[in-house]
Amino acid sequence: MNINQIALATALILLTVPGSGVQSFDKTEIISLPKTAAVLEAAARLHLDLLSERDGRIFVVAPPDIRRIIEAEGLAYLLETERFAPAAAEADSPLLSSPIGDYHTHQELEDDLYALEAGYPGLAKVVTIGYSLENRTILALKVSDNVEADEGEPGAIFLGCHHAREWISVEVPFLFGKHLLEHYTSDPEVRRLVDSAEIWVVPMVNPDGHDFSVRVYRYWRKNRRQNSNGTFGVDPNRNYGFAWGFDNTGSSPNPNSDVYRGTAAFSEPETAAVRDFVLSRNFGSMVSYHSFSQLIMYPWAYADIASAREAEFIDLTARMAELMAAVNGRVYGTGRSGETLYVVNGDTGDWAYAETGMASLCIELPPLETYQGAFFNAEADIAGIFAENLPAMLYLVDWTLTHPNPGPEPGLVNPRPLRPERKRGPGPIR
Ligand SMILES: [Zn+2]
Repeated sequence: MNINQIALATALILLTVPGSGVQSFDKTEIISLPKTAAVLEAAARLHLDLLSERDGRIFVVAPPDIRRIIEAEGLAYLLETERFAPAAAEADSPLLSSPIGDYHTHQELEDDLYALEAGYPGLAKVVTIGYSLENRTILALKVSDNVEADEGEPGAIFLGCHHAREWISVEVPFLFGKHLLEHYTSDPEVRRLVDSAEIWVVPMVNPDGHDFSVRVYRYWRKNRRQNSNGTFGVDPNRNYGFAWGFDNTGSSPNPNSDVYRGTAAFSEPETAAVRDFVLSRNFGSMVSYHSFSQLIMYPWAYADIASAREAEFIDLTARMAELMAAVNGRVYGTGRSGETLYVVNGDTGDWAYAETGMASLCIELPPLETYQGAFFNAEADIAGIFAENLPAMLYLVDWTLTHPNPGPEPGLVNPRPLRPERKRGPGPIR
């Protein structure tokens, strides 16, 4: 057995042996409670995972033990899980063979990427950039003319699914690769970009977490690392090597946390795979897709300070947002990560920008609000969300051709010390 096979065998044992310490998530519900002083006090004391609030009620992720405590304290709640459920496949749908309908499982993604490679020889190539903890492939699709050759053309890379439950973030980069291939002969602009650039999509960085989200617990976020205290998961988007562990607000040292940063920068095979792949090419731009909030963000994320390229990034993201709004009318906000959503340390974008100087963006896909579905976009929304992102993706590739990567900021120092805690705003972690 190699290390990956051992990890796989271990994972299978853990998933099948009762009483092995694996947490059960099948009865986890989303509940709402009235926003009273007693409820707010209990929420703080029990460290409840708050989603948001509306109409005088707060919405909370509640596993069975939490619900038992809430019931014991005499607090009345409503079950709200149904509001957040993905659309169910119709009984007579041919998609019944897929557990998640139009969304890709890891296996379906692998099949579809290889089908594109087979269907577009010379333009499409699938590369395995690494393996997850449970030995799943982390796949990249290259789209370029003379695809087998390394022509040294400017590169743009589109990543999805660092976070397991953010299923829409798989579909947008996948559909972009597919669109480029299907329109290469008919669309002169697509052809020009594909001929001039190397375009890469990596739709599923975290296949283990995604699989767990599909089969066991829809709300799962992290990868499937077994931590020393028996809990599972490192947050891949807190595990990159710039400003890793900068403070305990933008990431957590606690393995129980949904933003646990791991034992060291790049401790996880998924982030190490992205690191090694990105550094092996000549990338001028990157987008890492997440959901939700409708935002286009640029460095820095670890603190609310401007990067050396901020003026360029402001123009770039403003144009992208304009192109996106023109499709369906949905407005994506733009800004520095550290001021727009919340501070985040060890994320993909800060690392990629610090290491290479590239334009590294983070796009939070729709919806805007928790009550529009949060992480759980309907299948029917996939096409529209991709359609509104497409012109911005094409624009970014074109921008990459005319904005050569200047390299890392001179004298940039990786900020390592822990700083005092700062406040993060309310709402779920995206
Ligand atoms: Zn995310």
